[in-house]
Amino acid sequence: MIISSSKPFNEILEMLMDKDAVYIIGCSVCAAKQHVGGEPEVAEMSSLLSDAGVNVIGGVVAKAACSVRSCEYLMELAPNIKDATAVLVMACGSGTSNIARFVDVDVYPANNTESLGAMTGDKVIHHLCAMCGQCTIADFGGICPTAQCPKELLNGPCGGSMDGKCEVDPEKDCAWELIYERLERIGRLDLLDEVRDAKDRLVK
Ligand code: SF4
Ligand code: SF4
Repeated sequence: MIISSSKPFNEILEMLMDKDAVYIIGCSVCAAKQHVGGEPEVAEMSSLLSDAGVNVIGGVVAKAACSVRSCEYLMELAPNIKDATAVLVMACGSGTSNIARFVDVDVYPANNTESLGAMTGDKVIHHLCAMCGQCTIADFGGICPTAQCPKELLNGPCGGSMDGKCEVDPEKDCAWELIYERLERIGRLDLLDEVRDAKDRLVK
């Protein structure tokens, strides 16, 4: 799941203030699940913008903003989008970028895209994968140090953690403590014997 959060409303308003006709597109997948782009949020955004004096000419929730495949599909989904002078997309950056391929007006993001994560119940889990293109997560018991250790260390901890928390971001658990505990639990501490080369992020 792509993890996104809503931009502050004032920031969105500032982007759209001088636009004549704004169309809003949400996304029924990740954004809807996180309550930043489903039906209720599109309706609320439409009403807030209208109350603030922005001319909103319509709103719709795409099945998946990142999977809209053609201009024809978009026009069928949102016929009066043809009259829009700006489109506000309540999805992730990928969905916003994809929608921009099909409309020849300004396209604005309502959300900030943060990471590749997950959701359990209503709990959002950030930074589970950094999309490095060379997945070696099995070497670490399923906990990715490239995504979860700010120093992206592949061969053990930096030694700076305090009480299990990361020295770079004390809000977060030290990824390497989690990796060690996990490997111990599943009886795979032997995986730590191997020295791992740094990843070349340019190689895909
Ligand atoms: S190694 Fe980590 S960052 Fe790379 S693809 Fe696997 S989970 Fe994602
Ligand atoms: S404290 Fe842990 S998670 Fe933080 S940078 Fe060091 S090894 Fe990585």
